[in-house]
Amino acid sequence: MLENSLPTALYIHVPFCVRKCRYCDFVSYLYNESNARLYITGLCREIEQRVGCKHDKRWPLSTVFIGGGTPTCLSTAMLLEIITFIKGHFILLPGVEFTIEANPGTVDVDKLSALRRAGVNRLSLGAQACTETTLGILGRIHTHAQTVTAVRQAREAGFDNVNLDLIFEVPGQTLTEWQCCLEQVVALQPEHVSTYGLQLEEGTPLKEQVDSGFLQPCAEEDGLAMYRASIDILKSAGLEQYEISNFAKSGRECRHNLVYWHNEQYLGLGPAAHSRLGEMRMSNETNLIDYTIGLNTGALTVAWSENITPENDIFETIFLGLRMTCGLDLERFKQRFGRPLEEVYPGLAESLVNKGLLERRGNHLRLTPRGLMVANEVMCEFAPS
Ligand code: SF4
Repeated sequence: MLENSLPTALYIHVPFCVRKCRYCDFVSYLYNESNARLYITGLCREIEQRVGCKHDKRWPLSTVFIGGGTPTCLSTAMLLEIITFIKGHFILLPGVEFTIEANPGTVDVDKLSALRRAGVNRLSLGAQACTETTLGILGRIHTHAQTVTAVRQAREAGFDNVNLDLIFEVPGQTLTEWQCCLEQVVALQPEHVSTYGLQLEEGTPLKEQVDSGFLQPCAEEDGLAMYRASIDILKSAGLEQYEISNFAKSGRECRHNLVYWHNEQYLGLGPAAHSRLGEMRMSNETNLIDYTIGLNTGALTVAWSENITPENDIFETIFLGLRMTCGLDLERFKQRFGRPLEEVYPGLAESLVNKGLLERRGNHLRLTPRGLMVANEVMCEFAPS
């Protein structure tokens, strides 16, 4: 069980984008200035209601992550207003990791420099692909040349911790194109790369195009080959895999995301943001107007919440722990739940080890390279019945 202390990880959701990508089912609205102002008003009220007045700063943070949406479609002045409000109401601990997500089509050196000066020290760029064809299929607003420029501008602005997000298994994408994209990304010398297999989400234009036969989905074996290529190419460039979809230079693992993978507490603010506080999980009102009106009347706009049962807590801790290449920390598990894994699932880990899907390394239980390729199936073995 988690202690009821304050989480030290803060997520801020910015629910705006310049245009909706064709594969996206995240909560984001088309940017316009008046809605952005409404959002900032609501967000500031939410911070005040969660934390109290700024003269009473008691909430220490070791990671802050401003994500979306596309945070950088807000103006520099708006972003600085949000950052100033965060700094005014929380204690940013020494060495805080402060990330902002950005779309390469929405940054320039002035905006990046202002963010860096304000204390943002990690930039996560949604590069996604390196050919105009694939970027077009995904419906991205930027070109690969803009990604290259954004990375250069980030360096000029003083960012020494840059992540690039990439997507594989896109309809029409070939293994050769993907390998070439990875090489181009490596040449940009990012400290961190995330590679995600495309999920065709219900209701998105891309899913409709695939369902109608207009686009051919990527074959499963091609997707696996692309995943293997990510591991090989990024590793040979010094970007070690530390999670199923994440690769980093030594010491540049994303500390904010490690909080999620350790199934620890975090506070999420903004429309649709999720939080885990103690044994509760909750998410905010999604609708921007309802979110802001609720906060202006003094109410927290939690739209949904649930008590996390001990069974689900255990399962999620295993599921998330196995996502990391170091695996599930068995000692930490025992301390948190008061009993060893073997006692909760008698014989299960042993049987998966015997099948060559899991292995023990010191205090950790982790996926083998074979288990990594069927990770979801392995993790689901631990699902509560
Ligand atoms: S930029 Fe990101 S959040 Fe915005 S529409 Fe595209 S995928 Fe969705």
